[in-house]
Amino acid sequence: MSTSPQPGDKLLICKSCGCRFAFGVGEQYFFAGNGWGDPVRCLDCRRAAKAALVGFEDTRRQCQACGLEFRWPAAEQASFARRGWTPPRKCVPCRGKARGDQP
Ligand SMILES: [Zn+2]
Ligand SMILES: [Zn+2]
Repeated sequence: MSTSPQPGDKLLICKSCGCRFAFGVGEQYFFAGNGWGDPVRCLDCRRAAKAALVGFEDTRRQCQACGLEFRWPAAEQASFARRGWTPPRKCVPCRGKARGDQP
């Protein structure tokens, strides 16, 4: 993989390590096609984030506010574990209503 920016590449700053990385044209199309915004982390940090998910998988939990089952994605489990938080008791919409306290 080449590290020098190609025409059309966007130069972004990684939120995790602060490095500058190129967001390739092909990737831009891919991200836009999926309705995603620009990546906030460089490839290395994205890879590291992915590696941190090993051992976690999506689970379903029941919301204590509305009673509905909601998906608790592996990515969120990993970040909760990193912060030492307890698993969420509420689904995302209910957590949104009670913004401010720990989910
Ligand atoms: Zn980075
Ligand atoms: Zn809920």
